[in-house]
Amino acid sequence: MDYFAGIDIGSTAVKIVVIDEDRQIIGSKTAATGALVYKNAQTAFHALLDEIGLKRTDITYLTTTGYGRKLFEDADETISEITANAIGAKQVGKPYGTIRTIINIGGQDSKAISLDEEGNVSNFAMNDRCAAGTGRFLDMAARNLEIGVTELGEFHFNAQGTPAAVNATCAVFAESEIIGLLGKGYGREEIIKGIHFSIAKRTIRLVKRVGVEELLYFDGGPALNKGLVAALEDELGRRLIIPDIPQVTTAFGAGIIGQEAYQFEKEENEQLLSEKQKQSLEKAEGYKSTLEPDFSKTDSNGCGTSSCSHC
Ligand code: ADP
Repeated sequence: MDYFAGIDIGSTAVKIVVIDEDRQIIGSKTAATGALVYKNAQTAFHALLDEIGLKRTDITYLTTTGYGRKLFEDADETISEITANAIGAKQVGKPYGTIRTIINIGGQDSKAISLDEEGNVSNFAMNDRCAAGTGRFLDMAARNLEIGVTELGEFHFNAQGTPAAVNATCAVFAESEIIGLLGKGYGREEIIKGIHFSIAKRTIRLVKRVGVEELLYFDGGPALNKGLVAALEDELGRRLIIPDIPQVTTAFGAGIIGQEAYQFEKEENEQLLSEKQKQSLEKAEGYKSTLEPDFSKTDSNGCGTSSCSHC
């Protein structure tokens, strides 16, 4: 069995997926990118291999993507995260139909990607200048409110009062805004709900730049936050498709690239082999037809044999 690895080295997290020839996910892992990007990615990769009982040599093809993709030296191929995201989304979205719009929120950027009817990228828009609509904003807010990012969704749904109006255009100012809102007596739940709506509004402005076309799909680490998903769906007035593993779909897409390259090579080799077999069969047939008259001559008068009186 051949295995393929996709490694998405994001600004915040390294995501690794190992798949088999049938694109089944054998294992996945998420780790902090940190400052020692290559070392941390390698450590996480080998930890995942250990967990799933594979060796590095079992990986036929390794594809990297994400902002740090070029830092992973022993990759077979590197691809842009837009392409990897689209391939991953197309695959995990299959049970629902054709994904036409991808919303991806990462640790420090957000993207909107349009796909055509075949699932190819037709347009995209990206915000990587401002952290206000990204995971970093959520991480910072959670820290200021003394909760974990994994609890943001629960706080959102527990909000009783009106969500706080969060206007922050920059994550740096958001910190003082949150402190100001706490001072005004807002509960953490209402502040978090307000933050989710602020991010949702910002994200939708980005999506409108590429066009809002169904099926709409949302991935990236913050897609694990059900409160943010609800705010986005509320603002869009449409349902979003959220994969089971939203943080690792881009790594999955990178893994598929390797599987496709392998499949292509395998089919080409098979075709080449069958062409070669066909050619040698034709050659053999050719020999046979040129030899046959002689054989028949030999048969009739014994020419070429010890009993031939002419030879
Ligand atoms: P990048 O690819 O840019 O590194 P990711 O797509 O990995 O970004 O997303 C990282 C962000 O995902 C974090 O900053 C955090 O806000 C969010 N996140 C990660 N895990 C969770 C979780 N379990 N619940 C909610 N948010 C999460």
